[in-house]
Amino acid sequence: MVALTVISPHLDDAVLSLGCMLRGSPGATVVTCFGGVPDKAARLADWDRRCGYPDPATAATARRANDAVSVSRVGAQPVHLDLLDCDYRVADDRTRLADLERALAAVVGSAESLWLPVALGRHPDHVLALKAGLAVWRSSHRPPLTLYADLPYASTFGWPRWVINGGRPRLPLAWSRHVLRWRRHEVAMQWSGALATSGVPVHRLTPTVRPVIGSDLVDKLTALEPYSEQTAQLTYGPGGTWTLAQSLEYEAWWTLSG
Ligand SMILES: [Zn+2]
Repeated sequence: MVALTVISPHLDDAVLSLGCMLRGSPGATVVTCFGGVPDKAARLADWDRRCGYPDPATAATARRANDAVSVSRVGAQPVHLDLLDCDYRVADDRTRLADLERALAAVVGSAESLWLPVALGRHPDHVLALKAGLAVWRSSHRPPLTLYADLPYASTFGWPRWVINGGRPRLPLAWSRHVLRWRRHEVAMQWSGALATSGVPVHRLTPTVRPVIGSDLVDKLTALEPYSEQTAQLTYGPGGTWTLAQSLEYEAWWTLSG
């Protein structure tokens, strides 16, 4: 079986987005881009304060430990790169991208199969992870490439109808006006917009949808427990009206062909 290498922007994204898939592909490696530990004396970010941490170093150290537990629960190995997330960085975007490309070079160089976030939600750290991952992939031996929908951002406005329909029709699904009601259309447009700007040719991407129900959902929520201080702070679904479980109803990814 091919060993998967999943690039996770933060300490939680891979299990949130692909926990169920990872459990079915034991032996994967989850590489977290922004897993660095800031200086203890740095100004505490609002997010870390809301999560109850006294200082940035304590927050990052605890998160790395929590991530190791969560990633092992889905049968994968964690690798934490030492770059700081956007709350603690001072470098400009170009420097950040160059730093991440350098850090990812060795990882991608030995990957048998590379998984990158689409950056749905356009979080700056997710965008950097996608850009740097693609840049390094292009200059490497080009292992099989897959893009994955970032949860919980992917379900912030609900699910596109094609996801609920089990992954049909094929891309470019967002443009089939007669199939989609406006709300679903908007969501699908958001997904297609992210894919269209991902830097990967959309016509060569084949979608896969994995429903996460029953015991799969229970297992996924169990795997996510170590992140509970973060998942308790997030909001889910349209207008923040969903539970965490509702926002995890599907995992979706696109495999690059040819
Ligand atoms: Zn993230």
